[in-house]
Amino acid sequence: MTLTDSTDAVLAGLGGIRSGLEDVYKDVHAHPELGHQEHRTATRVAELLRNGGYRVHEGIGGTGVVGVLANGEGPTVLLRADMDALPIREETGLPYASTAEATDTSGRRVPVAHACGHDMHVACLLGAARLMAAAPGAWQGTLVALFQPAEEPGDGADRMLTDHLSDLVPHPDVAFAQHVLPHPAGQVGTRSGAFLSAADNVKITVHGRGAHGSAPQAAIDPVVIASMIVVRLQTIVSRELAATQPVVVTVGSVQAGTSGNVIPESAELLVNVRTYDDETRRAVLSAVRRIARAECDASGATRAPQIEEGTSFPPTVNDDGVTREVTAAFAAKFGERAVTAELQSASEDFSRIPDAFGTPYTYWALGCIDPDTYQAARQRGTVAQEIPVNHSARFAPVLQPTLDTGVQALVTAAITHLGRPGRISR
Ligand code: ZN
Ligand code: ZN
Repeated sequence: MTLTDSTDAVLAGLGGIRSGLEDVYKDVHAHPELGHQEHRTATRVAELLRNGGYRVHEGIGGTGVVGVLANGEGPTVLLRADMDALPIREETGLPYASTAEATDTSGRRVPVAHACGHDMHVACLLGAARLMAAAPGAWQGTLVALFQPAEEPGDGADRMLTDHLSDLVPHPDVAFAQHVLPHPAGQVGTRSGAFLSAADNVKITVHGRGAHGSAPQAAIDPVVIASMIVVRLQTIVSRELAATQPVVVTVGSVQAGTSGNVIPESAELLVNVRTYDDETRRAVLSAVRRIARAECDASGATRAPQIEEGTSFPPTVNDDGVTREVTAAFAAKFGERAVTAELQSASEDFSRIPDAFGTPYTYWALGCIDPDTYQAARQRGTVAQEIPVNHSARFAPVLQPTLDTGVQALVTAAITHLGRPGRISR
């Protein structure tokens, strides 16, 4: 069988499952759950995988679910979807909009919505898993359908790995994932090499010496030190890196003092760093620490600053060879709807999974905005103003053709790396 024959044979079943899959999507959309609380979603996913003939492992790293389908000799392909939603009140006006609430980790009652489209990832992967199981004659090998919790907090993939994911699934030869982005629905966007940035959060606490606002000579002013750090951090991008290096260093929070006539004891800075490769990431983080320490020294601070690393996301760097094959298969399947995706400054924790296995991967963008709406906004030059982006209260994928395209993309990518009948497996 050729690549196209195998793909077509699997996707021939799509018409038969489409309406059921749309119902699953609407149900997950209407019942969003925060990271690590995806109990209902995970139960539903496990049940549907089991019905499809998958060997199912539940509760991995809390609420993670993995379905394994062995179909003879051949490579192992891992497909991943994330399941969690966000503490946002949905304002899409959709008939299946969420009205859900939940208690977050700090004990607050918050609204919950699938404002990042992970519900679409879940539905697409369930659809692909179902179709692959229904067409065992079209491919050979093992399919791993992995449903990850808590992508938004950034620790879902890690928790699955530390909960011995690698003992539960065969070693994947390749891994794939996709994410809905505010591009025209029906489009798939691939990119070789760096695609999503790494994100690191750093908290810097500057220790000075408090005094009356009238007596600076008695103080070591942490407000001035913090200000110098904020300004000097700007020189990492402008003076320490090549002009061709895309890096972002943002100080998103500066907190110190309560009154104009009191020099406070300390100041706190929250810094966010975005980089696209490990070497640059290490260099930038080390520069942040160096500048913080040196500015404290320069002002005669009695103590070194406290520097704490907060949540971090790894970079998403797509394998060249794998991406080339998937891009060619997408071009054959989707024609001009297969595009090259632009570098994104958003971040993901997906890559931790293939990286833990030493497995190459590619991650692509799935368009999800009604194509006519997008085109009209584009003609007016108002895409940025009119088209809601991920994490907006108004963000929701248009159900079709997003769902069909997402299922087709996963199946098409999986088939590129699985064995096919009548062909020696790779
Ligand atoms: Zn998100
Ligand atoms: Zn997301």
